[in-house]
Amino acid sequence: MNVPFLNFNPMHEETQVEIERKFKEVYKSNWFILGESVSQFEKQFSNYIGTQYCIGTGNGLDSLILILKALNIGEGDEVIVPSNTYIATALAISRVGAKPVFVEPDIETYNINPNLIESSIKSNTKAIMIVHLYGQSAIMDKIADIAKRHSLFLIEDCAQAHGSKFKGKMVGTFGNAAGFSFFPSKSLGALGDGGAVVTSDSELSRKISILRNYGSNKKYYNEYKGYNTRLDELQAAFLSVKMNYLEKWNGSKKRIAKNFLENINNKDIILPKVADGSDHVWHLFVVRSKRRDKLQEYLNYNNIDTLIHYPVPIHMQKAYSDLGYRKGDFPISEKISNEVLSLPMWYGMSNLEIEYIIEKVNKWSI
Ligand SMILES: *Cc1c(COP(=O)(O)O)cnc(C)c1O
Repeated sequence: MNVPFLNFNPMHEETQVEIERKFKEVYKSNWFILGESVSQFEKQFSNYIGTQYCIGTGNGLDSLILILKALNIGEGDEVIVPSNTYIATALAISRVGAKPVFVEPDIETYNINPNLIESSIKSNTKAIMIVHLYGQSAIMDKIADIAKRHSLFLIEDCAQAHGSKFKGKMVGTFGNAAGFSFFPSKSLGALGDGGAVVTSDSELSRKISILRNYGSNKKYYNEYKGYNTRLDELQAAFLSVKMNYLEKWNGSKKRIAKNFLENINNKDIILPKVADGSDHVWHLFVVRSKRRDKLQEYLNYNNIDTLIHYPVPIHMQKAYSDLGYRKGDFPISEKISNEVLSLPMWYGMSNLEIEYIIEKVNKWSI
């Protein structure tokens, strides 16, 4: 038995005929940038999320940058962001010239702790950028309430949470706008890079759709100093196909997660916890152990591939040494980075593979 960390084959087998048909359609259309396929996917995705608008972009990072830019956030501004997230969330803030202000997570859910947000708000704080980490929605009622009381913009980084909900409401609908990534390994992945912004604010939508295309609405007339970051026609066409399977694929991963949660039983391993009201679409199944490296070595020896998301917290990254943080400044994030391990979790994993993982994990001891 050999369990890869991720395996696209079951998804590809299911969609191959439709994907190949889409490829031929776009190929024959002779139109590859901002055409019918992008418009169609944008409609489909905003319908699914429940927002008025969707703007296809080049990737998840650019989606977040476009939102910040369109909200006029920049030099001298601060944006609150979880200390425990993928670095892209913070990079978007840095890219527009603003300062990321880190807030520690809840150790059990790994998501931002809403109770720690307010003490980080200052007069130059402009926004809260929330992340629904590993596929689990953050505590959005509390967070939206804080944003509202302090007149802050609320931005959601939904790059890991396509189709996740909080108290029955889809993530991506809680704030001013939300950024999605369609990086291949995400719950909804393209066959290359891709991203989207969703929003129900018409002015914001207009500005972002212009900013993504050189700041231009009318060819060779430029309203803003924009970017070139567009979802391309081929990726949009592929995503339109895969979109129709998202609920099914998420549902299947939820069943695998349930199986893991019910059957993994090892006193040296802490299982992920889902907060009340949160929904989890299991982009990643992340456990913790004091002897994480040993666990990874053992699973590797047993042909079970694992990954660490993420080994170095953002405040300890060389790229952010300019902020002057030291070891111990965000102890919960540091503890998480030392203890987390992501187990294989993908659509189409067989019962034999699931049982094999459970058996091996249960047999491990420190
Ligand atoms: C993947 C990811 C991004 C960036 O998406 P790209 O499409 O790779 O640019 C941003 N935030 C989070 C939380 C992510 O996981």
